[in-house]
Amino acid sequence: MKCEKCNEKAVYRNPDLCRTHLFKYVEGTVRQTIRQYNLFDKKDKICVAVSGGKDSTMLIYLLKKFGYDVEGLAIDEGIKRYRDKSLEFLKRFCKEQGIKLKIVAYKDEYGRTLDEMVKTTKYPCAACGPLRREMLNKYSKGFDKIATGHNLDDESQAVMLNLIKNNMALLLRSGPKLDKIEGFVQRVKPLYLLPERLVRAYTFMKGLDVDFEECPHMTNSFRNRIRQVLNKYESVNPGTKMALALAGEGVNFKTHKEFKNQAFSKSITAGNDVTENV
Ligand code: SF4
Repeated sequence: MKCEKCNEKAVYRNPDLCRTHLFKYVEGTVRQTIRQYNLFDKKDKICVAVSGGKDSTMLIYLLKKFGYDVEGLAIDEGIKRYRDKSLEFLKRFCKEQGIKLKIVAYKDEYGRTLDEMVKTTKYPCAACGPLRREMLNKYSKGFDKIATGHNLDDESQAVMLNLIKNNMALLLRSGPKLDKIEGFVQRVKPLYLLPERLVRAYTFMKGLDVDFEECPHMTNSFRNRIRQVLNKYESVNPGTKMALALAGEGVNFKTHKEFKNQAFSKSITAGNDVTENV
């Protein structure tokens, strides 16, 4: 199998790309996403939400490579044998790359680790997600943007999830650049158009020092069930994930601002978390 851009052996299928063109494709897609959606520029101070996993590590690596002013912010939820390990990867990576990194912990902020908080619950993500976002907002104050490692798979899952739950406030916040909310640093997603498998291939072939393991609580989440369904559907109907992500973006951009504000206020009144797609 040959690379579709040159005669070299392809190391990746659909699109068929050799190593060199895989790197070019991934980097070009991220550059294009930043430009096309006007996510930020070289004057902005960017806080990258990092974890030691493949998505956020690749993101901060690329933004630094492209010459942006970045710092890493990591949340230590206190998940034994998972987060302690991924943070070791992260510390090593940031040190090697000369990237400033701040780590803040649930234990210091809330007095308990996530492991201590969720002993009795079946759904740890429901407790963890809002706390993560609260801390990200708090500790990114002073930056112009927060960049997160959400990729195309994450985005399509979020659109599907918000449709199924009829969560209009969050559905209306789909897309690579969330609306500005007073008191919050604006969030952007430079990996928005990249499928997860491309992120995996890039980080692996570049030899980036990342933890490929996933959070052990992930398996119990509603999002994980959506993920499995979408992966199956994508394998028989390629393009499903992109179509869902772009549909969410279209709903966001085409919806009248006043309607979005109403949905947003209703959601706040109902006590929903409206700062991010969960
Ligand atoms: S998968 Fe769930 S429990 Fe694990 S870090 Fe993410 S939100 Fe927290």
